Amino acid sequence: MSITREKAAERYPRLGQLIAGEMKYDGGWSTIDVIDPTTGSVLGAVSMATEADVDEALAAASKGFDIWRNTSAFERSKLMRKVAERMRESAEALAELLVLELGKPWNEALGEVEVAAGMWEWAAEEGKRAYGRVIPSRESNARQMVLVEPVGPVAAFVTWNGPLVTPSRKMSGALGAGCSIVLRASEEVPACAFALGQIVYECGLPAGALSVLTGDPVMMSRNLLESPITRAVTFTGSTNVGKQLSQLAVSHMKRPIMELGGHAPVLVFDGINIQDFAKRAVAAKFANCGQVCFAPTRFYVQRSIYPDIVDAMTEEAKRIVVGCGFDPKTQMGPLKSERRLQAIERLVDDARQRGLRVTTGGRSLDRPGFFFEPTVVADVTTEPKLSNEEPFGPIAALTPFDTYEEAIALANRLPYGLSAFVHARDFETLHRATNDVEAGNVICNGWRVTYPETPFGGHKESGMLSEGGIEGLRAFQNVKYAVLS
Ligand code: NAD
Repeated sequence: MSITREKAAERYPRLGQLIAGEMKYDGGWSTIDVIDPTTGSVLGAVSMATEADVDEALAAASKGFDIWRNTSAFERSKLMRKVAERMRESAEALAELLVLELGKPWNEALGEVEVAAGMWEWAAEEGKRAYGRVIPSRESNARQMVLVEPVGPVAAFVTWNGPLVTPSRKMSGALGAGCSIVLRASEEVPACAFALGQIVYECGLPAGALSVLTGDPVMMSRNLLESPITRAVTFTGSTNVGKQLSQLAVSHMKRPIMELGGHAPVLVFDGINIQDFAKRAVAAKFANCGQVCFAPTRFYVQRSIYPDIVDAMTEEAKRIVVGCGFDPKTQMGPLKSERRLQAIERLVDDARQRGLRVTTGGRSLDRPGFFFEPTVVADVTTEPKLSNEEPFGPIAALTPFDTYEEAIALANRLPYGLSAFVHARDFETLHRATNDVEAGNVICNGWRVTYPETPFGGHKESGMLSEGGIEGLRAFQNVKYAVLS
């Protein structure tokens, strides 16, 4: 990789609105700056769609839906597989945008492109399997059928921490199910979503089946959800905004698909290989600078191995090379924004004021951009903000426990229920924990939470319905009972 940040920044694209298959650049829109988290400087300008743009996208989605739903599942699949291929062919160009907009290291960015392409491939295949069934009838001449149909035009809202995977999840799920989709891209990382939308159209999507817009979130959510054209809403973001959007969706009887916040517990029992655990735990914790909804955040460690785990994780965290994502040595980039940097500083200040042990890190870096050191905080009780608020940043909180019951109670004490991790050698402990932990994903002796083919969704206040896997397409489908007699 020989791309420099400066060269990449010069190439940052002009942004507009992608409506009904056409990239529009001259809408006379107001704009806001897109900020490069590595330097704090302005990368480009994102335009704010008007109500008329949203109406145009909705009308296009209605027409696009008619065409797309009547395109055979095999044709749809062919086109979507082509999208995956094109994404792989354009991997370097897409990774460049990811590093610029989010600051993540180059290899992580290439990894995100591959994961996102895999989502298109999975949905392309699964879309062919919208199987219904025949129910034996009480009448001799009747054929009773259950049909599976696309729900209709979908409104989608995404946050910034997965600039390519999150739009890919929404677009591939909805299009794979036969729906059309209007996606509001994140104003903080817009170029990735537009680049993806353009790839989808280059692969031959009928005009209108997809629009990508940026604009005021309140206006756009109101207009998209109040419209009779929209049939479902999918949102990835915080629990607070998810609750507001769900209320709006339900009041207009649109299906809410909600992928919300988390604060993932990690239960660590004795008998594990401490060095190996620490190495992998730290890699999982600090990936994407900790800005991952399913990132491990609350480490509950059996007391007999607690001091060794604190030491080993501290040593591993100290070794992480922080820097610009275009530098091949970099293992962790900056936080996305000043707002996120301040949120992390607040959590660490609160921990310090309460006398908790910050065993490594704990400070922002004295350089431009939004860099914060990989941080380990030990002996964390239940009171600090860090134990209760989703950190969404490079902080690991460690706490000792004595009994299995205490560990489970700690894991389940928050309203979140997105992901959880259990590390133990004893099969019975693992087996019980998969039952007892309240989370949509329980990962035992591993760290990879999601693949395109596995369902991903939160329990409790972490969400409603799933993305990915068979369930990810089902969320965008309706069941219809039809009888022939
Ligand atoms: P946020 O909810 O504040 O913002 C998310 C997006 O929603 C932003 O683009 C914002 O402009 C937009 N938004 C704000 N108000 C809106 C409204 N009324 N209608 C429509 N859109 C609105 O979240 P954030 O802090 O930017 O993102 C981080 C959060 O996202 C974390 O809580 C994280 O766990 C969560 N997340 C969840 C998943 C998942 O799959 N469960 C994945 C990634 C991130």
